[in-house]
Amino acid sequence: MSLVEVKKLCKLYRSGGEEMLALDGVSLEIQEGETLGLVGESGCGKSTLGRALLMLDPPSSGDVLFAGKSLLTASRRELLQFRKEAAAVFQDPYSSLSPRRNVLATLEEPLLVHNLLLDQKARRERAYQLLESVGLQRNVGERFPHELSGGQRQRVGIARALILSPRFLVCDEPISALDVSVQAQVVNLLRSLRDQGGLTLLFIAHDLAMVKYLSNRVAVMYLGQIVELAESHQLYETPQHPYTQALLSAIPIPDPVLERKRSKILLSGEVPTRLRKLEGCPFRSRCPFAMARCQQERPLLREAAPGHQVACHLVNS
Ligand code: SF4
Repeated sequence: MSLVEVKKLCKLYRSGGEEMLALDGVSLEIQEGETLGLVGESGCGKSTLGRALLMLDPPSSGDVLFAGKSLLTASRRELLQFRKEAAAVFQDPYSSLSPRRNVLATLEEPLLVHNLLLDQKARRERAYQLLESVGLQRNVGERFPHELSGGQRQRVGIARALILSPRFLVCDEPISALDVSVQAQVVNLLRSLRDQGGLTLLFIAHDLAMVKYLSNRVAVMYLGQIVELAESHQLYETPQHPYTQALLSAIPIPDPVLERKRSKILLSGEVPTRLRKLEGCPFRSRCPFAMARCQQERPLLREAAPGHQVACHLVNS
């Protein structure tokens, strides 16, 4: 069953008389209990999509359904309920933690906002439980953000996101500011929380190896559009879209002999600006296989194999 359904989502920003189309007709579904990875170069619209799904930055058109109900036509009460059931972890935990509050106060705040666990002792116990569930000691609760390491702060960010027991969690580059060793810890933590609690995750990252490890399915974005969407193993073993192939060819292989032998696809050409709606394929200026048709006709996301969708004329011809 789909927990999140995104329908033809567009996001247009206007600034100084100019328009920028950050999301260009994105449609996808996230099944209850699954982790959908979202990858693409920075600026491709991944974070905009994550924020639009959470109604932090509502879309210009299209719709987002959560548990079958539209969030765009939801009442204030329904949106408040949604805020209990959906949460986010961002790249920079500092920005979501108040420097003036200690960890316990930070964790208890969402409970107070939603009038939950009004008994102070019960609230505190819930905060301690969450600290332990993200692998932190209880005494971390007395500390302030500046007294924590980057990894600890990100764990507090995750604990805060989980304090209301959400069904859906958007993780937007949650590991990119962390040391490599801490990155693996945080990804393992998210994986075990998902496996224990049936959490549904949207995991946004540019580290394709981490996305592969955590995700059931992966969507690839380019210039505000989904260009490929498949089961994780399908996407990594048999990428179909030329852009996905280029992204995957850039992942380093730990074996130096294999790494030297394989060929990398280097992308050339300009990334077009998104000041207006693009004609044809958004990837055509960098695609080594671009044909005349790619200039005029926008490729639609179509099933190339069971469960494997691709937006490319080469694949769908
Ligand atoms: S539609 Fe054309 S330009 Fe776009 S990825 Fe496919 S072959 Fe390349």
